[in-house]
Amino acid sequence: MSYVSRTLDELVKKNPHEPEFIQAATEVLESLAPVFDADPRYEEAGILERLVEPERQLMFRVPWMDDNGKVHVNRGYRVEFSSAIGPYKGGLRLHPSVNLGIIKFLGFEQIFKNSLTGLPIGGGKGGSDFDPKGKSDREIMAFCQSFMTELYRHIGASTDVPAGDIGVGGREIGYMFGQYKRITNRFEGVLTGKGITFGGSLARTEATGYGLLYLTQEMLRRNGRDIRGMKCSISGSGNVAIYAAEKAQALGAKVLTMSDSTGWIYDKDGIDLQAVKQIKEVNRQRLTEYIKYRPHSEYHAGKGVWNVPVDIALPCATQNELGAEDAKILIKNGCIAVAEGANMPSTLEATHFFLDGGVLFAPGKAANAGGVAVSALEMSQGSMRLSWSFEEVDARLKQIMVNICEQISDASEQYGFHNNFVIGANIAGFRKVADAMLSEGVI
Ligand code: NDP
Repeated sequence: MSYVSRTLDELVKKNPHEPEFIQAATEVLESLAPVFDADPRYEEAGILERLVEPERQLMFRVPWMDDNGKVHVNRGYRVEFSSAIGPYKGGLRLHPSVNLGIIKFLGFEQIFKNSLTGLPIGGGKGGSDFDPKGKSDREIMAFCQSFMTELYRHIGASTDVPAGDIGVGGREIGYMFGQYKRITNRFEGVLTGKGITFGGSLARTEATGYGLLYLTQEMLRRNGRDIRGMKCSISGSGNVAIYAAEKAQALGAKVLTMSDSTGWIYDKDGIDLQAVKQIKEVNRQRLTEYIKYRPHSEYHAGKGVWNVPVDIALPCATQNELGAEDAKILIKNGCIAVAEGANMPSTLEATHFFLDGGVLFAPGKAANAGGVAVSALEMSQGSMRLSWSFEEVDARLKQIMVNICEQISDASEQYGFHNNFVIGANIAGFRKVADAMLSEGVI
């Protein structure tokens, strides 16, 4: 039995109730087989067994009181997965679906993503099963303060630097940062995604979505295509989706769809992003409101974004939102490129359909790395006590995404695969982390 199969068997035995983690680990490990065949040192040093076991997993109680004086208890998580190449870095997710397996899958992916950015950041992830929907500002603050009252003792600017993810934007980061500062009496860059007036970086809000489009543009360019004039479907209408749509439009593509957890919109003339921003960012409403702004558009309850014929599909909502049937329909309708704004939005089956169908497919760990890359730039600016201009951060982001595209393409070719960016991203991300682990000894 191969090294990869043995490690995966053991992983499934040890973590039977964590399907998302098993899915993410299977995708990564299976594509690393050629690396182990070429270099026995990794197996001799037990790199894989160590890599799939987080360095530290924290679970804690988060009690808070609602506006009616009722006490609630949520479960908080922080998984510090790998510090091989830098302090743990990765977002915090607030969503009722959050459990340890989901945080582990996200933390595991984060190791390779962070490595691909070329910046010195390790992998981690955290969050809670708290549902921010429908909560007042005061309730959100109460939760965030309680969450940080435990988390603060485990994190630090050179130890572990959390950021936002689903359900955690500037408001939540602000409340958490305030509480960290109050407890520790230290003003340090312990969280990224902070407001501009207290240590945040310009372009952090836009970074994941813009970065996704820079990588998509480069992937198309390397294959002789121009994004200008292409039709594009986007799922989600959160931070990643909104700024992906903004940059797609700026680059001359037409965005036909967006969605939220209850339904999706189709606008044949191209999505009116100002309307979406007003609905989601300002009013915090459902996308059903969109037809009030654009009466000719369509709203559909449930799923369906991937049925619309497009050239490019950008899943930007959540894990496993694009299945095998969706992939088949996209391919049948002539889709030539898929780039994942969300983490693991395509199932393993869908991914195989795209690769076998000749679709240019950029996996999340490469395609959505722009967010964490600018988070690392926020850490650099924080350490220097300097702020770069929007243009400077954006230019660095673009360069990082172009470099990632080159790395994943080169790694794919080096191992004899043409345009297999899944294998390319896993191998390129892995090598740097594994080589650091070899140098650091058995820890
Ligand atoms: P947001 O909370 O801002 O937005 C999430 C969007 O996806 C919302 O439109 C939400 O709908 C929808 N959504 C969430 N959960 C589900 C679900 N279970 N089913 C259907 N729709 C759902 O999150 P982000 O935009 O920050 O994150 C989106 C994805 O991108 C996640 O996978 C995240 O891990 C990944 N990511 C984010 C980065 C960042 O910088 N923010 C960086 C890298 C990756 P509704 O409005 O109804 O809640």
